[in-house]
Amino acid sequence: MKLLIAHGNDASFLTLIEKIKKLNAKAGPFTHILIVGDVKSETIDNIGDVSDLPTLYIFGAEGESTIDIVQLNGFGVYECQDKLTIGYTTQTTKQLNESKKALWNKFKQLEDPVDIFISREWSSKVAALNELFSGTELLDNVVKMTQPKYHIAYGDNNHYFESKPFIWEDSNEISRFINIADFDSAKKWAYAFNLDMIKGESDNCTKKLDLIDSPYNAPSQKRALSTDKHIGDNNKVIVEPKQKRAKKVLPSTCHFCFTNASLADHMIISIGNSSYLTIVKGPLTTPKGDMDFSGHCLLIPIEHIPKYNVGQDKFSESTLVKEMTDYENSVVKMNYRKFDMSTIVFEINSERSIHFHKQIIPVPKYLIMKFEAALDRQLHFNNENFFNNAKLNFKKYSSTNGEYLKIRDDPKSNYLQFTVYETSEVVPKVYIAMFQSDMRLDLQFGRRVAAFLLKLPKRIKWDSPACLQSKEQEIMETEHFQKGYKEFDIMTQI
Ligand SMILES: [Zn+2]
Repeated sequence: MKLLIAHGNDASFLTLIEKIKKLNAKAGPFTHILIVGDVKSETIDNIGDVSDLPTLYIFGAEGESTIDIVQLNGFGVYECQDKLTIGYTTQTTKQLNESKKALWNKFKQLEDPVDIFISREWSSKVAALNELFSGTELLDNVVKMTQPKYHIAYGDNNHYFESKPFIWEDSNEISRFINIADFDSAKKWAYAFNLDMIKGESDNCTKKLDLIDSPYNAPSQKRALSTDKHIGDNNKVIVEPKQKRAKKVLPSTCHFCFTNASLADHMIISIGNSSYLTIVKGPLTTPKGDMDFSGHCLLIPIEHIPKYNVGQDKFSESTLVKEMTDYENSVVKMNYRKFDMSTIVFEINSERSIHFHKQIIPVPKYLIMKFEAALDRQLHFNNENFFNNAKLNFKKYSSTNGEYLKIRDDPKSNYLQFTVYETSEVVPKVYIAMFQSDMRLDLQFGRRVAAFLLKLPKRIKWDSPACLQSKEQEIMETEHFQKGYKEFDIMTQI
């Protein structure tokens, strides 16, 4: 699908249309032509014959024109007949602020990412990429919710700006941000592109892209900017090269720490001496068969440690390892003996993590055989397409294998690990991939593999509408889990 987006203004609108006609004849024909900018409806009425052009969409025009074009104002999501979806907000920062709630509610309901997102203003996250102005934080969440392949803005009349591509971690889609300059600016005022309408991961997309980290994963930049720029001796502004700031989360604000007052204690299933078990926010799995709860849970050390092995004394014999192993086995036992399910455990061991945890996910027995195929597929996708992601190379071991335990028991190793329990009665298989701590890592990798295996593409994101649960539902989940788990709980067994 070939698309053209142009930035017009009222004074030159009719000249713009003539230019677009020429472009369409020369570089087109385009499937759709989108025009952004402040144009009056009376001007649009004088547009003349546009029958040789495809459907015209005008964003942000004042008033209602009488001619046959699609006029979009305010904010919303428009789905074209050919399924192209366009999210948009033509609002100024002030208007965004006034309609903040309605705006978020609107985009929160989206089930799938949009193809294109059009906004007058820049989000603060993309504004941080070129540092000319601050953008608006009001759009950060909206863009994150819509996860467009192309985010087109037109708030800066005098500059054309195109970001390097980045990846939405949840959907694995490649995204770009572009600001199109005004028609009269002598800068680039139109942008033509091909849009691949196949949603989701495509196997034939193997070209290497110069990707940047998603600006939407970056911490707020405001303070960073003011400290990075300062006035030098001869009154010149000196901009220090940006340093990578390590994320630092204190136990008082960590979601997994008991010292944090806002820890969601209604989600806790069982508490041990050095670790605890909770249900998760936005579970991947859903109740199945006799299991009347999702079954997806987290096993978390009580101590605020980024990885399992941070160099504790006699790590492999420590109470932490003993207790977490017992907890893990007890859930695996429940899944298998009571609900006839296999289990997958996923964990990231990285010195750059915040608070270590293991994800425990029940998997129907007939699917567990396909785990390796699911892992291979996601691996191929990760390693082929994202050349600045850590290249993952999984090795398969038995969980009692000496070579594997050597990796686990070395506090210096950083690794991803899947533990696959076909039943609770045999020694599980471990798939482990080491990586360098400074490499970019797909934090969703584990959930992505499990979602692919379970054929739950809509549940990859924990915060997608399909997965989110109310507090009441979470309380129910915890109660049902506790009921199913009672006879296996290591804390009531003793
Ligand atoms: Zn913590």
